[in-house]
Amino acid sequence: MVALTLFKEAADMIREAGGEKLDNCYQCGLCTGSCPWNQVRSFMVRRLIHQAQLGVIDFESDDLWLCTTCRNCVQRCPRGVEIIDIMRAARRVITETGTSKIPDSLRLAITNIAGAGNPLGQPPEERGDWATSLKLKHHVNSYTLYFSCCIPAYEPKVKRVAMATAQILKVAGVDFNILADKENCCGESVRKAGDENLFRSLANKNLEAFSEAGVKQILVSSPHCYHSFKNEYSKLGAEFEVLHMVQYLAQLISDEKLTFKKEVKKKVAYHDSCYLARHNAIYDEPRQILKSIPGIEIVEMSDIKDNTLCCGGGGGRIWMDTKKDERFSDLRIQQALDAGADVLAVSCPYCMLNFEDSLLGFSDTKPIEIKDVVELICEGLS
Ligand code: SF4
Ligand code: SF4
Repeated sequence: MVALTLFKEAADMIREAGGEKLDNCYQCGLCTGSCPWNQVRSFMVRRLIHQAQLGVIDFESDDLWLCTTCRNCVQRCPRGVEIIDIMRAARRVITETGTSKIPDSLRLAITNIAGAGNPLGQPPEERGDWATSLKLKHHVNSYTLYFSCCIPAYEPKVKRVAMATAQILKVAGVDFNILADKENCCGESVRKAGDENLFRSLANKNLEAFSEAGVKQILVSSPHCYHSFKNEYSKLGAEFEVLHMVQYLAQLISDEKLTFKKEVKKKVAYHDSCYLARHNAIYDEPRQILKSIPGIEIVEMSDIKDNTLCCGGGGGRIWMDTKKDERFSDLRIQQALDAGADVLAVSCPYCMLNFEDSLLGFSDTKPIEIKDVVELICEGLS
């Protein structure tokens, strides 16, 4: 039997993260009922919150690493308990005190980020290589920065997102810069995985690079970079404007700076990522973009907007192993197929990676295409 551990310091850290609201929990269990894990396996969120209230947490339980920080439970909690902050604090205790073991795959990603500035452990000097053929501006002062996120910068399956984005910005005549090897992982998932010190170090390095380059506006492909720059870096002194590409491109289209020349005859289901939709209430702009592309028919899945189904990649889970029959991304692809979609459109590199991996397990050769919204824009422009 695994012993429950009571450390006063740990209990205080978790209580501090949950604040007074932790005591508001009256054990209704709505959090457990709304957690997507309970569609694939048991995860007793309510019990974890009760343990946090008592200051008695089983730090050796794998359950502490399950939360994808999707925010479904926080949104439904009638007492306003900040469940994600409590999960993050429990992980922070493990990271900072060594109370128990961090999952191996997560430890590797964090070691890579600490050493190379990206979770894949790729050389920092190759961070801008995706843009070589596009001849973009590097390392010059610029008002507008395009921050691609580590995954499109390095991951072969997702590089196409950064390339399509830069091509669209060029077509629209946007004057922008990339910082290539001067930038580091934004650290959003690092923070949710409990490594607050590494998050601070990454944020400080990025803030210095942005300041040196005179950046006043940052365009991002990842909802995680968006969330971190907008809601977390701002508390560390950042003063720049942050826009996700779906916001920026919806405006360019509405201003007629981008005009479509070609029909894209596809049925498209748009997947709301947790960090755009539930965390930041951005769900109209991607649909406006899709509506403006001639030929596209939008079909909606059963769980959309702030009721979206998480892909499983938030909270550092993108770097952790998930059993084949426990992947939310498989359920989501099935929802898109049930809606009759030819394409599952995304606006998050983590979602794209998870869906591409899920597709490998489907028996049909390729039952559906996974495309970022920017790729569909490119198809309509060419
Ligand atoms: S939904 Fe809120 S009040 Fe209900 S058990 Fe969960 S944390 Fe407690
Ligand atoms: S944030 Fe999402 S994954 Fe985490 S406990 Fe809440 S519902 Fe479950």
